[in-house]
Amino acid sequence: MIRKLTERSTRLGRGASRRFACLGVLVAVALLAGRLDASAQMPSASLPGVDPALLEDIVVGSRILADFGVVDGFGHVSARHPTNPNHFLMSRSLAPALVTADDIMEFDLDGNPVDARGRAVFLERFIHSEIYKARPDVMSVVHTHSPGVIPFSVSKVPLRAMFHNPAFLAVGVPVWDIRKDFGETSMLVANAALGKSLAETLGDKPVVLMRGHGDVAVGPTTKMAVFRAYYTDVNARLQAQALALGGEPNYLTPGEGVKADQTNFAVMDRIWNLWRVKVLPSLAK
Ligand code: MN
Repeated sequence: MIRKLTERSTRLGRGASRRFACLGVLVAVALLAGRLDASAQMPSASLPGVDPALLEDIVVGSRILADFGVVDGFGHVSARHPTNPNHFLMSRSLAPALVTADDIMEFDLDGNPVDARGRAVFLERFIHSEIYKARPDVMSVVHTHSPGVIPFSVSKVPLRAMFHNPAFLAVGVPVWDIRKDFGETSMLVANAALGKSLAETLGDKPVVLMRGHGDVAVGPTTKMAVFRAYYTDVNARLQAQALALGGEPNYLTPGEGVKADQTNFAVMDRIWNLWRVKVLPSLAK
């Protein structure tokens, strides 16, 4: 388009030609920006130095979890800041299905936004800030109210690994009960003390259930945390079915869990590329 406009401009007078070429470039840039924004790939102007690919992972993760019904109007995906480990990135307060790269903001580990510019932030950002504080190995945190896990958050039946994709559950899934130390609350992790308590119950595990609320999945990458959030929900639904059949299900052992989870890492890009094309259809070839 730039070339066409420039070629056309050479047929005009010299002064007019320069002005026209300039206008052409501006139009082309505006059109390109609009196109990128529409496919949610535009790097956020407020986050210089952050790889657009990481912002895209947060966008893809938020949207695919919404597609799967693991999150609805609520829930969030965050990533530790790639160059400042004492900061993290998550969207402004917004339904996950609507998140674009431009909505992603930077926070410190006390949950304070670095440059809020009037944007509303999630009440439960302390889930993320306190887990990043407690777990240097965690690079991404996902919080959901996934319908599959709620029954396991309120019953005495532990969530256990049913098959190879959720093998990461074989190390055990703790349940955090907000009432234990904080009495009757709104159930929301709305301050740092609550987030710290949740992070302590998570311990060194990949997933923690929250009684009467949902869960948190963490990982060494955003892709892995999203994968774990999705398969935790799938596992919970299948485990409820297996339990309904009667008898004790034959779960994965911790040893099988370790081996199967290594395969999950190896095949991550295959499933991620599928999810990416599903939620960013302009990428489909
Ligand atoms: Mn919540």
